[in-house]
Order: sequence, then C-alpha cells, then structure tokens
Amino acid sequence: MNMFTRSAARLSLSALVLGLATSAQADPIRQTKAPFRDAFRQLEGEEWPTPNDYRNASGAPGYRYWQQEVDYKVAMRLDEATRTVTARATVTYRNNSPDRLQYLWLLLDQNVFRRDSIAELTRTTDIEDEISLSALRRIERYKEWEGGFDLGAVRDVNGRNLPHTVVDTLMRIDLPTALAPGASTSFTIEWSYAMNENRVVGGRDGYECFDKEGEDGNCIFLGAQWFPRLARYSDYEGWHNKAFLGSGEFTLEFGDYDVELTVPADHVVAATGELQNAAQVLTAEQRRRLTEARTASDPVYIVTPDEAVAAESNRVSGEKTWSFRAQNVRDFAWASSRKFAWDAMGVQQDSAEQPLVMAMSFYPKEARPLWDAWSTKAVAHTIDSYNDFAFPYPYPTAQSVNGPVGGMEYPMITFNGPRPVKDEDTGELTYSERTKAGLIGVVIHEIGHIYFPMTVNSDERQWTWMDEGLNTFLQFQAEKRWSADFPSRRGEPNDIVEYMVSENQVPIMTQSDSLLQFGANGYAKPATALTILRETVLGRELFDKAFRDYATRWRFKAPTPYDFFRTMEESSGVDLDWFWRGWFYSTDHVDIALDGVTAARLTPSDAEAAAERRREDEEADPPSLTVMRNTEPTVVERDPSVRDYYDNTERTGATASERRDAAEALEKLTEAERVARDLPDTFYRFSFRNVGGLVMPVIMKLDFTDGSTETVRIPAEIWRRDSEHVTWQYVTPKALARAELDPMWETADADRGNNIVADVPRATSLTVTTPEEETDNRMRDDDLKVLPDSLQTYPAAPDETEDAAPNTRTPPPPPNAPAVSRAEPERPVPPADEAALPAGKEDQS
Ligand SMILES: [Zn+2]
Repeated sequence: MNMFTRSAARLSLSALVLGLATSAQADPIRQTKAPFRDAFRQLEGEEWPTPNDYRNASGAPGYRYWQQEVDYKVAMRLDEATRTVTARATVTYRNNSPDRLQYLWLLLDQNVFRRDSIAELTRTTDIEDEISLSALRRIERYKEWEGGFDLGAVRDVNGRNLPHTVVDTLMRIDLPTALAPGASTSFTIEWSYAMNENRVVGGRDGYECFDKEGEDGNCIFLGAQWFPRLARYSDYEGWHNKAFLGSGEFTLEFGDYDVELTVPADHVVAATGELQNAAQVLTAEQRRRLTEARTASDPVYIVTPDEAVAAESNRVSGEKTWSFRAQNVRDFAWASSRKFAWDAMGVQQDSAEQPLVMAMSFYPKEARPLWDAWSTKAVAHTIDSYNDFAFPYPYPTAQSVNGPVGGMEYPMITFNGPRPVKDEDTGELTYSERTKAGLIGVVIHEIGHIYFPMTVNSDERQWTWMDEGLNTFLQFQAEKRWSADFPSRRGEPNDIVEYMVSENQVPIMTQSDSLLQFGANGYAKPATALTILRETVLGRELFDKAFRDYATRWRFKAPTPYDFFRTMEESSGVDLDWFWRGWFYSTDHVDIALDGVTAARLTPSDAEAAAERRREDEEADPPSLTVMRNTEPTVVERDPSVRDYYDNTERTGATASERRDAAEALEKLTEAERVARDLPDTFYRFSFRNVGGLVMPVIMKLDFTDGSTETVRIPAEIWRRDSEHVTWQYVTPKALARAELDPMWETADADRGNNIVADVPRATSLTVTTPEEETDNRMRDDDLKVLPDSLQTYPAAPDETEDAAPNTRTPPPPPNAPAVSRAEPERPVPPADEAALPAGKEDQS
C-alpha cells in the first residue's frame, strides 16, 4: 500500500460521516466574482501537441517512430606546440524520415568562440563600475586569439565540392539531389581549430597548462564539440538548427564512430568508445594491468602516478595514433595529456548486452589523492544507482577525466574539475569537505548524463530541465545512497524554497537560452519537483515504475517533454496535469496556510447543549473582585434556612421544560440522525488557504491530548473546486491538541509560520439538520391525499400493458385544473438525472 491509497481511504471515511449531517451546509454564495482558476484544467489539447503516429498519446514512441542515423570516420591530429586540432572526417548520413531532404544542417559549436558569434556579440554586463580579473583576462585574450572552425574542403564521395553556407554556429550543406526517404549519402569534410584556454575563455573543452613557477609546463587537452556534427532532424521540429549561444547544450543523432587520434607519443588518451590498438599505444605491463582491472574490486593503476610524473619530466618526441570505436553513440569526445595517471575497475551488471563496464579515471598529480580515492568508485556507484532507476548502463566504458572543465558529459567520457588545494609555501595538499563532496557529486552527475541525455536523447538546446533536472534528481538519489548525510546541493524540498519565492523567475518550461537563474531553474527546481512527485504525490512504487517506463521507452530514442509528462501519468494512473501546470508551467510557489480549526460535537440532547452554553457563558464572565476578597462566609453559606430552589440548583442547568422540548425533538429524529447523535466524535474542521498559488497535497500531523499522533495525507484534488480556500473535516473521538501542516518539510512550503495551530478551541455544538420538505405542493395544501383512480393506471410499463387499458396519450386534467379546451404547448422534458434531483440538493454527493 502506498501513501496515496492510504490517504484516499481516510478521505472516504470522513466523507461518509459528513454525509449524515449536511443538507443545509451547501457552500455559501461567493461574495466576489474573482475569475475561477481551475488548477486541474487538463493540458492535453491546450499546452501539449496532438499525439500522432510518431509519438502516441500514451507518451511512447508511435508505431511509425523514426530517427536518423549518422556514422563518422575521423582522423585528427593534436599539435601540442600550437594547441591546434586538424582533422578530416567521412560522414555517412542515413535518411530514415519520410521526407526528402534538400540539404543537411551541421552544428559548428566551436564557432561560439568567434569574435562575431551571436554568443560573443550579445554578452551583457552589469552597469556597476567594477570588472572582475577573469573578465579582464578574457578581453585581453580575445585581442590575440580567436576560436572557431577553419573549414577546408567539403566534398561528396566522387570528390566534387558540395556548396555549403555557414550561419553563425551552423552550416548548411546543399545536396546535388534531394536525399530520398531510406537513402544514404556520404561526404568528407576537413577542418582545424585553435583550442581555447578553458580557464581564460570558458567553454566545455579546451586546454589547461601547468606553467606557473615550480610546475612542469605540461598541459591537459580536452576535445569536445570539436568536429562538425550533424544536427538532428526530427518528426516534431524538422532540423534542430538553432544557434549555440553557450547555455543550451545540444542533441545529436545516434551513430557509429571510428576515430583515430594522433597525439604526442608520451600522451595518454581517453575517449568515447573502446581502444582498438592497445598493443601499439600501451606497454605489455599496462595491458596486463588493464586485464587485471576487469575483475578487480578496487581500482587498479593502468598508468601509475609515478609513471605519469616521470613522463612529465622526460618528454619524448614523435607521435602515436590511438584508435577508438564506439557504437550507437550520439557524440564523441577525447582527452589527452602526458600528465595523466589512469586507474580502472570492472563493474559487473545484470545485463546480457553489457555484463561488464570498465569504470576508469584519468588525472594529473594535482588532482591526487582525491581522485585515486573516489573518482572511479563514484563512477561505479553511479552505475549501480542509476541502473535501479533506469536501465543497465549501455556502454563498455565509463570514464572520468580531471581537467579545467568543472563538469561536462559526453558518451562514455566525462570531464570533472575538483582538486585539492596546494599551499603556495609548503606545497602541502589539503581539501575541504566541500571539495570532496563536490568531486563525488560531479562525477555522479556527469556519469549520470551518459543515461540522460546521452542515451535517452532529449534536447538540451530546447529544454534544459529534461536532462539536467531528471539527472540532478537521480544524482540526489545516488548521493543519498552514497552517504545518508551527503551534503547534496539540490533535491531536498526545503532547499528550493528561496528560489521559488524569488523575483526573477521563468517557468521550467522555458527555452534553455532564455532561462534566468540557470542552475535553480534547469537543475534544482525540476529535481525537487521529481523528489516531491516520488515521495509525496505518487509514492515510490508508482513513481519508480513510471520513471523506469519513461527511461526504457526512450532509451536510444529522442523524447520531448510531453512524452515524459504523458508516460508518467499513463503508467501511474494518476492525473498529474495540476502538478505539471504548477511546477513546470508556472512560477507559483508552495505555501499552504492552516488558517484555523473549529471543533464541534453532537450533544445528547438540545437541553444539555443549552445548559452547556450557559455554563460556558458564566465561566467566561470575570469573577467579582469584591467576592474574591471577602473572606467571611456569606449568610446563604452560613444559614441553610434562608436557602431555596434558586440557591440549591445549578443556575445553568437544563430546565424541565427544556428537557421536555428536547425529548420531543428526539422523537422526531430519523434513524440516521439518532445514530449521528450517539456518536462520541468531535468534528474538527480545518481551514486551508493556498497562499503560494501552487496546489499541492495537504499533509497534516494531528497531535491528540492522549499523546497519540496521526498524519493525514490529503491528495491535491482537495483544491479542485476552489484553489484558494478549502475547509476539510476530520472526525475522531479523540481530543485534538495541535495540528501542523507538512511536518516532514516535504512539499517545499515557503512559510512555515502559518502551518501550525497549537490551541484548538473548545467544542461547540453541532446541529443536525433534516432534509427540508418540499414547500410548493398544491395537492397537499388542498388536503388531497389520494390520487384519483384514473391517474393510478397511468403510465404503465409497456410490456405489461399489452392487454391492459389503452394507453391514453393525453391524461385527463387533474381535478382542480381549470377546464380548458385549447391545446397547451408541450413542455421540454428535462434530462433524467437533472429531473430526479430535488431542488437545492446538488451538493449532497
Ligand atoms: Zn548536467
């Protein structure tokens, strides 16, 4: 049983009790005519695209789902002296779409570093009279350096030049003849680019050199978004040819890669895929260690730290070519340096396709000893944890590389930044707890991205949250499985409150480059929303199945937000449109207030209720100061002979007349009302007010005077008729001492100051009402009690009237009707259920 069904059971029980005592408790007429805000209005047909054969209404790929395929064969050379990459690729594009393609679009992400790129020209700044040192260094660098692809020939398989046009970070290649559905085309392309110094220019790639005094003058090179990559062409967007502005990352087609990386002979290379020529680039001893690592339970050095240090000071000349192959990946990245130590450990997993994954890390001495201790183990832990939520890790390698990039993911390879700090004077290495958690957290996050979006291929250039939000949610789960007190930055409901009440916000459903507060909007808020969806709204059982369904359906396919939303509802069987609307389409926050509680009891008789009211009134009067200070006994106290009826009976007690009236009233009660009056219960009514605007389940902890406690979980649907104020009833024989909303801080409720009622008022008397009699009854008022004989035979059921009296179409007029001969127009007959409902009883159900 999950949380949702338990709270539903609680609701129906109290609804049953309420049903005994309602008839005159219909909602009061609204005083103001504020527009009705339906927080439960469905998104289908309004915000979401119409389902089709490619993406169906259940959120799964449709029966005609298709996606393109692009294979690359690349040869590149890294020139260490000039920090330049030169390369040539043969690209094979297979058109699986039903459309004829006149041209192909490619992403030239390196062009973001051109001085005249949209990204560079639209950088904005503060008006304040200060500038950071890093901003100054960047400006200086751009005077002497400029990035971007330097394109060579683009040719078809016959060597003919293909016309092509560069548009900022995009390029269109015009095909000599349109590419038919099901057909393939190949072309070659040559290019080079000057790598960016990452710590000066920024970006997700580039180099970092260690050339300060006392350091070795060697560099780490990270190659990413480093080749012209085919843009995606999809059923819902056509070409995904939106310029790269620096924030919204990318989506690409799946395909096979065969890449040769020629680098200085003493470099160690990590890359997407599996190494094909270990015999040419590794020593026999290194190859032996690599074999040993496959079954090791702790990381094994393939290149030891000592070997890496030796390589830094004994440079060799010449070059080596490292050959990698990767199948069914949506990108390819690499890292190269002679500074790299390399460790590895095999991770066994329950998968026929991929029973063993090599978890590996590459790092310079500056990253030790943090990286030896935790990088590869964090990679292995990520695989264990994400496999539980999604599917088995789909590739043979999972790598973590230390360098200047704080955190970035590519298929099978990630770049991660955290390092210990080095004391300038003593050279001692220390690290903060923050740095340690930062390393483990970022490795989990970036390796996690190999699932989302590198395998579940969502489009970050449009929707940051689809990979960053989902992945940050899974990162949070993995961190809490690493250590219960892991200092997670994002995922706990309480940590999102400050952002959700802040001024500069846009909804989560906003295009990536237009996001404000990128991290809070794209990462933290969706991650928290999913935590709440799992722990508070759906419960783990329903959430985990639905989330796994989403991951499995879209593994190696390309989902949209609507595919995610629809799958979560379709699989869980819970309407979540209100949740998506509140959390993903609005900037409302959560703040539910407990405005007050009333208590009422059904007293045994009206006589005693009246007496009780008098007693309360009397007790409410302040005592007389004069009486309090008089210490001598009064005459009435001293002398019994002066006392009479008024002195001997309690002034507030029920009178005989009241008792008679009450007994008479009791006589008239129906059976149901008698039952209700005998209940020992108190009826507590709670007023909830939605201050933040976001509708949410109401979770309330009730503390009773006998020391017992109960937490009720009311589904969000409580707000469906009024998303601002609702009153909810709870019936119990126990006396309530205190009520608190969201006691576990699980809903991101922004103001806890309005969540508690600590003094529950005394119970008042609850009046039992009886159904009102029909007032307009002319037959009764005319003392007519028996139907005339002629009416009693009309109308009869058709199958019983075959031989009975003829079925008269026009009944005779009732006895008191005026005798009229003209035909009256027929009245419209109301629909059956409307006609059956007594007036004024709409609120009974
Ligand atoms: Zn990320």
